[in-house]
Amino acid sequence: MSNELDAKAARERAKAIAEQRRAERRNRKRKCVVCGVEESDKTPLGAHPDGIGPSCKDELTCQARRAAASR
Ligand SMILES: [Zn+2]
Repeated sequence: MSNELDAKAARERAKAIAEQRRAERRNRKRKCVVCGVEESDKTPLGAHPDGIGPSCKDELTCQARRAAASR
């Protein structure tokens, strides 16, 4: 019955790989190109109007953060 075991092992392996990819995607955080803040529930990112990358949806907070960071 080694075939059955192999199939089970392959399934387990595929599951582990899928799990790992999910975790990596969770960990890979996008950063705002304007102020450099990491994307989170509090600071959702959207596409920058100039197409230069992800930037804060909340533009006012973003600009305040950038002003504070450049000081
Ligand atoms: Zn920002």
